[in-house]
Amino acid sequence: MALQTLNSFLNLFLSSPCPLCQRTGQPLLCQDCQQQLQDCHQSHPSAQPVQTHRSQFPLTHWGIYAGSLKRAIAQLKYHNTPALADPLGKGLAKAWLQQQQSQETGSQKLSQRLFPGGSQPWVLPVPMHLDKQRQRGFNQAELIARSFCRHTGLPLLAQGLQRTQATQAQFELSPAERQRNVAQAFAIGPTLHQKRRQKRNPPPVLLLDDIYTTGATIGAIAQVLTAAQIPIAGIVVVAQAME
Ligand SMILES: [Zn+2]
Repeated sequence: MALQTLNSFLNLFLSSPCPLCQRTGQPLLCQDCQQQLQDCHQSHPSAQPVQTHRSQFPLTHWGIYAGSLKRAIAQLKYHNTPALADPLGKGLAKAWLQQQQSQETGSQKLSQRLFPGGSQPWVLPVPMHLDKQRQRGFNQAELIARSFCRHTGLPLLAQGLQRTQATQAQFELSPAERQRNVAQAFAIGPTLHQKRRQKRNPPPVLLLDDIYTTGATIGAIAQVLTAAQIPIAGIVVVAQAME
């Protein structure tokens, strides 16, 4: 009986339509959509530096925010498809690992150069305001980070940051307005403070988000972390918008 129930559940899952094209087919994404999504991938072994208010950080992105990737992120966020965070996080993990390998010199890994203790950076997803997260049911950056950490082996600090202010959606605003919008929106969460106190040499943090546009959000977070003297190893995002 239990097996039958399981089978019918699996059939239901397998026959649910592809979230991007609505054709019934394979689990989660049909082959066509997988291919189209893969076409959005940019292979880039070296991370590009991005400038925030005072510092530069290496940014790793999986693809360009357009076409199928833009549709997949919209589907994930606005059409209640949290399962899409898995393949996106996995792709980003592969890109990040590839980049680490290409930056290894001899037997010394980048993480060891960045951080002499040799410990891996803690992954901090960009937080959502709790009201908004309750409304959506999940924080997409956190779900992507879970998948990213599963595939990289990096430790996740899901509540490492807090969004203390509900802000307007960034895509509605000009670059200057975006900066003002998020300037005071973030704080360091109690888990990050607590974890850092427990370590003699706490590792740097790696910020993770779904989209990087003008860098206003990341800049606001970097400012908070810098003020608390928490080093930032880099930024990883699924999609970078070309504006
Ligand atoms: Zn499809």
